[in-house]
Amino acid sequence: MKKTYKKDINMFKKDFPYFQNSNTIYLDNAASTQKPKCVIDSQVEYYEKYCANIHRSSFSHANKATKNYENTRKILKNFINARCIEEIIFTKGVTESINFIASSYAKEFKTVIISSLEHHSNIVPWHMQGRELNRGLEVVSCDDNLNFNMQHFEELLKQNPKSFVSITHISNAFGKIHDIKSIIHLAHKYKAVVMIDAAQSLAHFKVDMQELEVDFFVMSGHKTFAPTGLGAIYIKKEHLKNVQAYQTGGATIHEVDYNSSTLLNSPYKFEAGTQNIVGVIGFSKALEYILSIGYEKIETIENDLYIYLDEELRKLDDIIFYNDINKAIGSRSFNFKNIFHDDIAILLDKMNIALRVGHHCAQPIMKHLNIKGTIRVSLAFYNDKNDIDKLIKALKKALSILKK
Ligand code: PLP
Repeated sequence: MKKTYKKDINMFKKDFPYFQNSNTIYLDNAASTQKPKCVIDSQVEYYEKYCANIHRSSFSHANKATKNYENTRKILKNFINARCIEEIIFTKGVTESINFIASSYAKEFKTVIISSLEHHSNIVPWHMQGRELNRGLEVVSCDDNLNFNMQHFEELLKQNPKSFVSITHISNAFGKIHDIKSIIHLAHKYKAVVMIDAAQSLAHFKVDMQELEVDFFVMSGHKTFAPTGLGAIYIKKEHLKNVQAYQTGGATIHEVDYNSSTLLNSPYKFEAGTQNIVGVIGFSKALEYILSIGYEKIETIENDLYIYLDEELRKLDDIIFYNDINKAIGSRSFNFKNIFHDDIAILLDKMNIALRVGHHCAQPIMKHLNIKGTIRVSLAFYNDKNDIDKLIKALKKALSILKK
């Protein structure tokens, strides 16, 4: 069948069926990205042509499913420059990955250090261990532009050597980028172990495990143009022997009798039960798609767009920002004086603008700023200036209605 594209969509959006089927201006990429056709096709192909479980049966479709699943591990290993496939474990997403590491490994650490910009997924698992501020949990302060306070971080590391540091790379709520290379380097000086919440990273940046020398790196598929319900953890090889399996059961097992069980080695011992096979296969297509465009191009497009977004938003009356755009990408958060953000979202939705308002699963920083939440525009490389112009036009209209 001949492909029909909407004439007015850019060359990248043409790769995403969502934009051919919808007039929505999609600006909620920090929540989840759209999926390119190659990812969707791989899902359909699996279900229609070789649907079978992996690592179990030996008929040809089962072997093909296993091969494609394991091929994603290799592709991701190369993508992030891990040393070996044992270091790559698939999970449901970043939330599960952090819960896994928190409950099976990091619980042994007396102190966990996080930043002020963490998502609830990197706060609540620590509370579930009974940790509170200054009682097993320390929070690095930030300045008025939400920049990470490196001096405070060093003080906390000095006071709490051999801590577990768990810090987001990019704030989903405000777009602030943490200088994770310096954070990891400093943490290691004080014998800390570091986990980076990279939920927002792969859609925007190239990352390299050897360059970062990070201990744990948790990634999200659905925020990286891949299917939902899929994530991955990189665990530095040195730590594999100390990480306990978070769940056990089928597929993790070397030998079982009624008295005891022995587990396989990583990565299999960490992937209990039937996995999100189709999601993992789709992830490889998303990673290949990113490589076909190249991070250099993605970063250039996004930086230009982010600056344009900021410039255009600044022209609006009574806009309130909470940070500058220095060392920030993707998400831009704001409010308007005396306007409730939920009202903006309702009106924008009627004008086909999709964005998120509220606390963005980051209530502590909202409380610190003394606000209930923000209006958040979050960009991906397939957005363009036309999207931003339409957003601004819609915001102007919404504001004129709400100010009446
Ligand atoms: N951490 C950050 C910074 C996020 O932005 C998100 C999702 O918004 C999460 C964690 C949770 O990720 P997932 O949906 O993969 O569980």
